[in-house]
Amino acid sequence: MAEYMVTLAEKEEVASGTMAFHFKKPEGFEFKAGQFAKFELADPIETDKEGKERIFSLAHAPYEKELVIATRMRDTAFKRGLKSLPVGGQIKMSGPYGSFGLHEGTAPAVFLTGGIGITPVRSMIAQAMQEKRAGKIILIYANRTPQEGVFLGDLQALAEGNPKFTFVPVMTAAGEQSWNGEKGHINREMLGRYVKDLTEPIYYLSGPAGMVGAMRELLEQEKVRPEKIKAEEFSGY
Ligand SMILES: Cc1cc2nc3c(=O)[nH]c(=O)nc-3n(C[C@H](O)[C@H](O)[C@H](O)COP(=O)(O)OP(=O)(O)OC[C@H]3O[C@@H](n4cnc5c(N)ncnc54)[C@H](O)[C@@H]3O)c2cc1C
Repeated sequence: MAEYMVTLAEKEEVASGTMAFHFKKPEGFEFKAGQFAKFELADPIETDKEGKERIFSLAHAPYEKELVIATRMRDTAFKRGLKSLPVGGQIKMSGPYGSFGLHEGTAPAVFLTGGIGITPVRSMIAQAMQEKRAGKIILIYANRTPQEGVFLGDLQALAEGNPKFTFVPVMTAAGEQSWNGEKGHINREMLGRYVKDLTEPIYYLSGPAGMVGAMRELLEQEKVRPEKIKAEEFSGY
C-alpha cells in the first residue's frame, strides 16, 4: 500500500474533547468516500503498548481540498503525540483501505451512527450531495450531548432545504432545556418515525463496537436481511 508523508495544515477542536487534524492532500493520493488510512507518528517522544500508529477514517469527501481526520482526544501516548504535532509538521500515512462505501442505485440509505463513528459518514454524505446522487439518505446520529456531537454544523448545512438528505441528531443524555430534538437511544419507535418500511433501505452502521452491535440486533429483530446491513466498527473505543 502506498505510503506518504503528510503535512499538518490546521488542527482545531470540533466537539468537546474532540479534535480534527487537516493535512495537505499529497500529490497522487486518491480515495473513495468512507475509506480510512493508517497514521504513524514519525519520531514519537513516547509510545505505549498500543504502539505509534492508529487507523482513522477520512472525514472529508474526496472532492474536498484537504485530508481530515477527527478523533476523541484520550490521554494515550499516540494522541498526546498527535496533538503536539505542529502546523507544518509531518506524519506518515498509508492507505487508503476499506470498502465502507455507498451502494449503487436508488435504494434509500439509512445511517445509524454513534459519536466519533461519524467520520466516514460525513465523507460519504458530502460526496453523495456533491455528485447529486439519486437515492435518499437519512442520517440518525447519536451523541450523549450536543457538545459531544461532531460535524453537526456541516451536516445541518448539507441537509438545509435538501429533499435528498434528512439529518436527525439524537442526544442520549441531554437535559430537558438544552435539547428539543430526538432524545434517548435509537430504537424501533424512533427509526419508524423516519423510515416507513424498515426492510427497504440499505443500512450503514458505524461507531463504537457496542453501538454497532445494538443497532445490528435491532435491525435483525425487524427482519432486515443481513446483506442490507453494512458496518464499520471502531475498535479501540
Ligand atoms: C476502520 C476503523 C476506522 C476508525 N476510524 C476512527 C476515526 O475516524 N476516529 C477515531 O477517533 N478513531 C477511529 N478508529 C479507532 C482508532 O483506530 C483508535 O483505536 C481509537 O481512536 C483509540 O485510540 P486511543 O489512542 O485513544 O486508545 P488506545 O491506546 O488505542 O486504546 C486501546 C485500549 O485502551 C482503552 N482506553 C484507552 N484510553 C482510554 C480511556 N481514556 N478511557 C477508557 N478506555 C481507554 C481502549 O478502550 C482500548 O481498549 C477507527 C478504527 C477502525 C478499525
